[in-house]
This record gives sequence, structure tokens and C-alpha cells, in this order.
Amino acid sequence: MSVLTESSVAAKVKHTKCFIDGQWVPAESGKTFATVNPATEEVIAQVAEGDAADIDKAALAARRAFEGGDWPKMDARDRGKLMMRLADLIEEEIDSLAALESLDNGKPISESRHADLPLVIDCLRYYAGFADKIHGQTIPIRGNYLCYTRREPVGVAGQIIPWNFPMLMTAWKWGPALAAGCTIVMKPAEQTPLTCLRMAQLAAEAGFPKGVINVVPGFGPTAGSAVTKNPNIDKVAFTGEHRTAQIIMREAAESLKRLTFELGGKSPNVVFADADMDAAVRGAYVGLYLNQGQCCCAGSRLFVEERAHDEFLEKLTALTSNRRVGNPLDPQTEQGPQVDRAQFDKIMGFIDKGQEEGARCISGGKRVGDKGYFIEPTVFDGVTDDMTIAQHEIFGPVLSVLKFKDREEMIQRANNTYFGLAAAVWTSDIKKAHDYAARVRAGTIWVNCYDVFDAAAPFGGFKMSGHGRELGEEGLRAYLENKTVTIAL
Ligand code: NAD
Repeated sequence: MSVLTESSVAAKVKHTKCFIDGQWVPAESGKTFATVNPATEEVIAQVAEGDAADIDKAALAARRAFEGGDWPKMDARDRGKLMMRLADLIEEEIDSLAALESLDNGKPISESRHADLPLVIDCLRYYAGFADKIHGQTIPIRGNYLCYTRREPVGVAGQIIPWNFPMLMTAWKWGPALAAGCTIVMKPAEQTPLTCLRMAQLAAEAGFPKGVINVVPGFGPTAGSAVTKNPNIDKVAFTGEHRTAQIIMREAAESLKRLTFELGGKSPNVVFADADMDAAVRGAYVGLYLNQGQCCCAGSRLFVEERAHDEFLEKLTALTSNRRVGNPLDPQTEQGPQVDRAQFDKIMGFIDKGQEEGARCISGGKRVGDKGYFIEPTVFDGVTDDMTIAQHEIFGPVLSVLKFKDREEMIQRANNTYFGLAAAVWTSDIKKAHDYAARVRAGTIWVNCYDVFDAAAPFGGFKMSGHGRELGEEGLRAYLENKTVTIAL
């Protein structure tokens, strides 16, 4: 595969306005903002900067589409067919969408093309299959009554997504919402609006009625906050930082909106000395450095059993020091830039802090080049639980290695965090694996694997890592209301 040029990908960017009620419209204010290529720091395109006025319009369109028109009348099976059609259109454009994702976000094209996009398509198809399988129950209540339940769409879904997996987060949000029969007001992240806007166009081409899917790009405190407060929006699904979720929860209290949150993590990845060491090293490497470390479930606290420590680190640093960091559009690249200047600065700050607090940087630790937000894959050894880098979500290519000797103590340390998104364990002892899976408080546990995602497997957090679950049948719940009907016979 040849290397695409940035200009050839940018030249194909056509959708930069708000998509409201089936139309491409500028922001009411006329304002735009720049979306930047993090590999070059150059502007890719100016995008409409939506705010409360645009969210109001979008929410009204979504409300109308929910209450009248073709969408509520459509047979569930036909709704599923539309979703299948959208998945097909995405598949037809898989190469150009992957290139656009890499341009706007900085992720290597090998990942956007062979991981993100296939998962997007799979997610939409999975939920398309659910559209005609959502049904209630008949319930034998006391007395001469027929009692049954209906599962109905929650209404207009407000969806606010981050920049780390722009298309995949769009699919995770649209899939269950559309299958349930909801309509959507989505606000993509300001760093990465382009692929979500392109998906809106493909949805229109697939035949979704106007107003069913609306996309308003813009910033969090303006457009995002307007989603939270808008009275025409029934529910908010949010992925991002827990502090933002706290703001959303406060703002949504007024209208008591239903809320689901998928937030951050500080996931423990535990390697016992009896593990298949090569597999564990590979798993730790992928589990942290995938997507430049910008994964909510990154295995950022790596606990290695003391007697395996030296062998493990030798193998791990051999991988990190050979990692190919560079142009995201080059198919050979393994690691691109961080998404923006703010994330870059934050991560470099954490690296400084790790050094100040006495952790040993044994690989990486510096910026790569002087243009673009590239950071070397970094490994800190000798990290202790109280250090800043062991406690805070870094959201970058920085791995903290912690040693353990005693299993009981390790489990307590693994749980000693206000997060609980994911955890992993590497061992050849099935008892240790089950014990860990049962006792570590996290929404996902991987045993002898990492970052295994499937549209059918629920994902979400314990503690401050979230509320509710996405994916799987569980993921539909957030978009459904239950109605009980009782009929005197
Ligand atoms: P963020 O929570 O600020 O942004 C995520 C989304 O929320 C964006 O669309 C943003 O515009 C919107 N938003 C921001 N403020 C809002 C508000 N007041 N009301 C409504 N919406 C609002 O996250 P970020 O600034 O992009 O990243 C900061 C940190 O969050 C990262 O360093 C990382 O630790 C974490 N993060 C986690 C995930 C995840 O998948 N769990 C994804 C991205 C970032």
C-alpha cells in the first residue's frame, strides 16, 4: 500500500457544517473553528461551530422525527435494514474513511483501517439485527387481567463523544439508539469532527428519514452543555472525562435526564511469573500503546510479579524502543501523534512528574521531532502506588511498571483506585485467573488477552469509570423505556 499524502486526503473533506433535519447548514452564529492535523499542526478544515441555538434546532428536528413522520411508523425490521445499509456504505468507503480518521485524529492508518473501521461496521450490523428483536413480556399478575410490557424508545438521545475513537464512538452510540427507535442529536469532539460528519452524510444516503440523525460540531461548554440542558432531549450518553461527566450530571439534574457514562480508567494489568511471558509482554505492549495510549481501558498500571520482572522488562523495552513512530498515513507506522497540543503538554507534564517523584524512565520519555505531537513510547520502572503517574489517567504512551510479591496484596493494590473500567491478568493457573476475575472491581476483565472488543460483549465501568454499559444487549437498555399495560378481562 502506498503512502497517501495529507493534501490528497484533506481535499476530499466535504462535510464541515452542521447536519440538522437532513440538511447541511452553517452554525446560526456563522462561527467556525479549525480542525488540525496533529501530525503536522496544520489546519485541515474549518468546521461549523455549533452552540445552543444549533442544538435547539437539532433537538427540535429530532423531536419531530421521533413523534411523527416516517421513523416511528417504520417497521422495526426496516429500521434494521437501514442500519445494514449504512454499514454497507461505510464498508464501501472503508479506505477513504480510515484515511480521514487518521488525518483528523493522528492514529496510524493500519489501525483505523484494520481495527476501528471493521469494529464500526460490525457494531452497526450487530445492532441492526436487534431492531426487530426488542419486545416485552406477558406477566401473570393476580386477578383477571392481561398484563404485558412494551419496550419503547426513550426518545431523543443526546450523544457526546470524545476524540480517541471518533467513528467507533459514533457507532457505539448510534447502533443501540437507532435499533431502539430513538432519534439522535450528536456532538462529536471538537478535535475530530470530520468522520462523524461524513457518517451523517452516509446515513442520509442510506435513507434515514430527516431529523433521525443530527450532528452538531462544537465545543463542550457551549454545544455539549446545550445537549445536557435541552428539554427536547430525553437522555444523554457521554464518553469522556469523569470531571465532564460530573458537570453533565449536575446540569442534567434540572430535567432529570437519563444518563449513561463511559469514562476513564487506570486499569491494572497483572503478570504472574507463571504466565506465557512472550504473550504477556505483547499484551502489555498493545494494552498500553494502542492508539498512542489514548484508550480509556489502557493497561496503565502494569503489576509484574517480582521474579519475572527483569526478564519481562527486557522483552518489553525491546518492543518499545523499536516501535515505529511517525506519519499516521504511512501503513508501516505503529504510533502516530497525540491528538492535540493540550494532550501533548499534559502527557509531557506527567513524564516530568514521574521523573521528579523518583520513578526510573527506562525507555522513551521525550518528544519525537519538532513538528506534530509525537511522544516516544515511554516506560517507567520502580513506580510505587503513591506516585502521580500511578494514580492519574495519563492518556498517552506512558507505562508504569509496579512490582508485586504477594497475591492478596496485589489484588488490594489493583483495586486501590477510584476507577474500575478494565483489568487483565496473565497466568497459566486457572484458579488465579478466576480469583482475579471475581475480586477485581472492573467492568471488563481480560485473562491472557487485552483489548478484545466485540459488539456483543458489554463494556463500561465500575466506580468512577461510568454508569451503565455499552455494547451487547445490555447496551440497548439505556435507550429503552419499559411500559406496563394492564387490561381487565
Ligand atoms: P472531555 O470529557 O472534556 O471531552 C469529551 C467530550 O465532551 C467532547 O465532545 C467535549 O466537547 C465534551 N464536553 C466537554 N465539556 C463538556 C461540558 N461541560 N458539557 C458537555 N460536554 C462537554 O475530554 P477531553 O478534554 O477530550 O479529554 C480529557 C481527558 O479525558 C483525557 O486526557 C482523558 O483522560 C479523558 N478521556 C477519556 C476518554 C474515554 O474514552 N473514556 C476519551 C477521551 C478523553
